[in-house]
Amino acid sequence: MARPIHLDSVDKEYRSAGTVHVAVDDLSLTIPEGSFTTLVGPSGCGKTTTLRMIAGLETPTSGRVSFGEQDVTDLSPQNRNCAMVFQSIALYPHMSVRENIGYGLKVQGVPRDERNRRIDEAAETLQITEQLEKMPAELSGGQQQRVALGSAFVQDPDVLLLDEPMSDLDAKLKAELRVEVQRLHQELDATMVYVTHDQTEAMTMSDHVVLLNDGRLEQFAPPGELFDRPVSEYVARFIGTPSTNVLPATVEPREEGYALAGEGFEVPAPAESFVGREGEAVSLGVRPQYLSPDGGDHRFTVVADVVEQLGTEFVVHGRTPGGTDVDVVSPTLGDVEHADELTVGFDAADVYVFGEDGRTVCYGDELANDSPRPQRNS
Ligand code: ATP
Repeated sequence: MARPIHLDSVDKEYRSAGTVHVAVDDLSLTIPEGSFTTLVGPSGCGKTTTLRMIAGLETPTSGRVSFGEQDVTDLSPQNRNCAMVFQSIALYPHMSVRENIGYGLKVQGVPRDERNRRIDEAAETLQITEQLEKMPAELSGGQQQRVALGSAFVQDPDVLLLDEPMSDLDAKLKAELRVEVQRLHQELDATMVYVTHDQTEAMTMSDHVVLLNDGRLEQFAPPGELFDRPVSEYVARFIGTPSTNVLPATVEPREEGYALAGEGFEVPAPAESFVGREGEAVSLGVRPQYLSPDGGDHRFTVVADVVEQLGTEFVVHGRTPGGTDVDVVSPTLGDVEHADELTVGFDAADVYVFGEDGRTVCYGDELANDSPRPQRNS
């Protein structure tokens, strides 16, 4: 039966040669029961360490891990009703696919008939029924990973943990297996936690995303919220492809409130978010898809460097005359060539404003708010 997973002020430190390395730093969150939650972030941010602490393969240096009401911090992995699938596929080469999938059940003493029933069910869900009597060496990488998923599936775990299970597969197989993993989630009454460094995978597959930054929680939210309401520049840059543009600006006082003055543009800003920030160097985050050639309320110049075609759209990688890197995505940029000068624009509603500390000060809906702006305190 699926259970929520609670991490309560979890730390993990590794000590070697007299130095302490903090891999996970004061992590607290509740992964909802039955959800598909993804841990995402760049290499070394603590994803695998977090997953291994949930599995019981690592013990936190401090803090507690609970499944529902049960504190499992000191429970062995075998006693957590938790299954794990790893990036490197670990199949027994001398056993058939059927024997591999059923091995865990056999060790638990599950009778043969029951074992076969569960193996057949898993094979059907993962579309490997035809492969059941083959040996692992006769399977492709994608099929082998399905067998590994099948071994986890038959155990009917409360918690299913997946550590980059697709990273060794090619793009087509990855796409297929993504669907299988989601089918698995629908069939199993389990809380699933999935680790990936690929934000596209995280955003497309999950109910919730945990974005880690150097061992700390940066944001924990459903994918749409992560995209639309990033809490920091780090989140805005990590989520979305190409990465969010970050345009420097300064907070300047104006007759009625404030303005965010950048290279060639000026965005009126509400007093309530910017009081006390006069002169601060802020940044405006604008997604490449929200910059429109010759459109938008606030325009500036970009000099094209490289143009790429991405299906029906074109991506222009360029730079402002002042040297800020800018990417623009649009279906209308096919004729752009290296060194061409473009005028691009954005609407205030599509912007995130980040403070000097990288945290989000306000979102575009506040900038675009048409209601009369309160007077600036002076
Ligand atoms: P990747 O995507 O590269 O797998 P990750 O986000 O999963 O990275 P972890 O494997 O959790 O990151 O590692 C987090 C940090 O802890 C890294 O700096 C790593 O070098 C360090 N680390 C992990 N395991 C150990 C260990 N057994 N001993 C010492 N340091 C470790």
